[in-house]
Amino acid sequence: MAKLIDGRAIAEKVYVDLRRDIAALKSKGIMPGLAVILVGDNPVSRAYVRSKDKMCRDLGLHSVKLELPGSTTESELIAHVEELNRDRTIHGILVQSPPPKQIDEAAIVRGLDPRKDVDGFHPENIAKLALGDPAGLVPCTPLGVQRLLIESKIDIGGAHVVILGRSMIVGKPLALLLMQKNKNADATVTVVHSRSLNLAEITRSADILIAAIGQANFVKAEHVRDGVVVVDVGINRVEDATTERGYRLVGDVAFEEVSKKAAAITPVPGGVGPMTIAMLMSNTVKACRAINSI
Ligand code: NAP
Repeated sequence: MAKLIDGRAIAEKVYVDLRRDIAALKSKGIMPGLAVILVGDNPVSRAYVRSKDKMCRDLGLHSVKLELPGSTTESELIAHVEELNRDRTIHGILVQSPPPKQIDEAAIVRGLDPRKDVDGFHPENIAKLALGDPAGLVPCTPLGVQRLLIESKIDIGGAHVVILGRSMIVGKPLALLLMQKNKNADATVTVVHSRSLNLAEITRSADILIAAIGQANFVKAEHVRDGVVVVDVGINRVEDATTERGYRLVGDVAFEEVSKKAAAITPVPGGVGPMTIAMLMSNTVKACRAINSI
C-alpha cells in the first residue's frame, strides 16, 4: 500500500516558515498585502476567494477583497488592477478565474504589475520561469507540487516525470519548473495531453506521475507501474446522493486501485489543494520582499 503524501501537514510546515518571515518583515515596519478581485457571483470562485482571505488573516497579512458585479467591463477591471498596481500597501494581486465572458483574462493578466503577479501568469514571469531566473513568480499549483515532492523526500533529479495535461495553469509551467537545472528539479519531463498517442505506455514509464486533466478517476492501475509516485492535481465533482451536498470531490486518479501499486500518492482532497493556497501566501511574501528590495 502506498505512503500517503499529506498536503495539509506539509502546508502547515510552510506556514510555520511563513509566519517567521512575516514577523521579520513586520519588525522592519513592512506588512505584506494581498488583494483578491472577484468579478460576479460564481459560488465556487466565491468560496476560493473566501478561503484565500481567511488564510491571509490567519497569517496576519494585509488582505483586500474586492467584489465587483458580473456586469463589470474589461476596462473597468483593468482600472481597478492599475489602482492596485500603484497601491503601496499591496504586494500581490490576484483576479479570481474565470472572469465573466465579456472579459479577456489574458488582457487582465498583462495589465498586472509583474512584480505583484502572485499567480505567476504574466508573460514576464512565464519568461523568467522558462529562462530559469529565480527572481520570477512561479504559478502556485506547480510550485505546490514541487514542494510536496521535496518535503516528502522524493528524488526529482534524474527521475522520469510524466505530466498529464498541458494547461498554462498547471501542466506547462510544472514541466518548465521540474526540468530546470537545479537541485530541486533536474527531471526528465514528458507532457501528455488529449492528442497524445500511446498514453498508457508513456505513463507506465513514469517514476513520478502527475495528473492534471480534470477527468474524474481517469488514471487507472493499468496506467502506472509498481513503485510509482503519484501526484493528483485534479479536483472533480461527482454526484453522490449519500452526501449532504449531493456530490463529493475526487481527483484525476482512481485512488483505490492506483494506491495498491504506487509507492506514494496524494489524496483528493488534502493533497495538492492545500499546497496551492500555501504557495499563494508564499508568493505574496516573496513579492513583498522583492518590492522592498529585501
Ligand atoms: P484544463 O485547462 O482544462 O487542461 C486540461 C488538460 O488536460 C489539457 O491539456 C487537456 O488536453 C488535458 N486532457 C483533458 N482530457 C484528457 C484526456 N482524456 N487525456 C489526456 N489529456 C487530457 O485544466 P487545468 O486548469 O489544468 O486543471 C486540471 C485539473 O486540475 C482540474 O481538475 C482542476 O480543477 C484541477 N486544479 C487543481 C488545482 C489545485 O489546487 N489542486 C489547481 C488548478 C487546477 P488538451 O490540451 O489537448 O485539451
